[in-house]
Amino acid sequence: MTDFHPNSIPSGTQVEVPPHPVWPELTPGEREKLKVRIKRLLAERDAVLVAHYYTDSGLQELAEESGGCVADSLEMARFGAAQTASTLVVCGVRFMGETAKILNPEKRILMPDLKATCSLDEGCPATAFGQFCDQHPDHTVVVYANTSAEVKARSDWVVTSGIALPIVKHLHAQGEKILWAPDKHLGRYVQKVTGADMLLWQGSCVVHEEFKSVALARIRKLHPKAAVLVHPESPEQVIDQADVVGSTTALIKAVHEMDNPEFIVATDGGIFHKMKQLAPGKILIEAPTAGEGATCQSCAHCPWMGMNALQNLEQVLMRCDNEIVIAPEIREKAVLPIQRMLDFAKAHQLAMKDQGNA
Ligand code: SF4
Repeated sequence: MTDFHPNSIPSGTQVEVPPHPVWPELTPGEREKLKVRIKRLLAERDAVLVAHYYTDSGLQELAEESGGCVADSLEMARFGAAQTASTLVVCGVRFMGETAKILNPEKRILMPDLKATCSLDEGCPATAFGQFCDQHPDHTVVVYANTSAEVKARSDWVVTSGIALPIVKHLHAQGEKILWAPDKHLGRYVQKVTGADMLLWQGSCVVHEEFKSVALARIRKLHPKAAVLVHPESPEQVIDQADVVGSTTALIKAVHEMDNPEFIVATDGGIFHKMKQLAPGKILIEAPTAGEGATCQSCAHCPWMGMNALQNLEQVLMRCDNEIVIAPEIREKAVLPIQRMLDFAKAHQLAMKDQGNA
């Protein structure tokens, strides 16, 4: 194993976490009428809806009913690129809208709320990150998809949580030293598995950071037949208890394919909608976020993902505002590391639809 430099890393930027949005309760009748109006607007605007697994179940249903998709961020962008529609409405967080724009520059990309961001993205500002890269010019820069277009533009590779291991293994085999950002837990996991020489940016996901290992061990004792599914943005002691560590798509696949009757799931609770759809007979248990060290953020639901709702989806389709705009010089640079990842996946025949990220 090569050197790891835990003491020469920058601190992640402090991120202000918004309160979890509370949307007015809709009656079933109001909800159906709203969905009908949104479907009409989608047709009028020549628009397709792409939603992330962590968004509200009503949005996920609508995306599928209206010919859009529900997926991880990379598959959302790839699905968008295959559409003939001139507008994509991205229900997720801002870096997903930006990735869609980077890969589909000719399309208009709208989002219900442009303030829907991500603690990993917010905790890795482009200027500070650029300085970190400048200090380590001999390192290959690998960034997770949960970053701004500017940070991607500064990188050599973009990776998703599913493809991070094979890409880092490949780089390590070529003797390259890696500068990794922004998620410290995923970076540590990748470093441990591959043995690569990695410098880690100290960012974290406010949702996955909250999973508690001691409480998880207790729940596992209560449910001995349950498989533990963990997203690798979770802390090390939680990952160490996992039967499956993987991306959102990999965890959904595990519920569908494994024989266990119960699953303890350590990732955003929004994913339960798709898991229940694919495996209705299975019992799904949220991994504990309460317990020692718990904070007001401890609910296993991303506050920024929660900024997407049927109500503001209708508004954005009516007004056609909240458009993602990326400066051409940034897009031209940011597309290269994304394309490098896609080419790597193709060359190594990795099924990207099974390799998705958060
Ligand atoms: S769940 Fe975590 S990684 Fe995903 S968007 Fe929210 S803050 Fe970012």
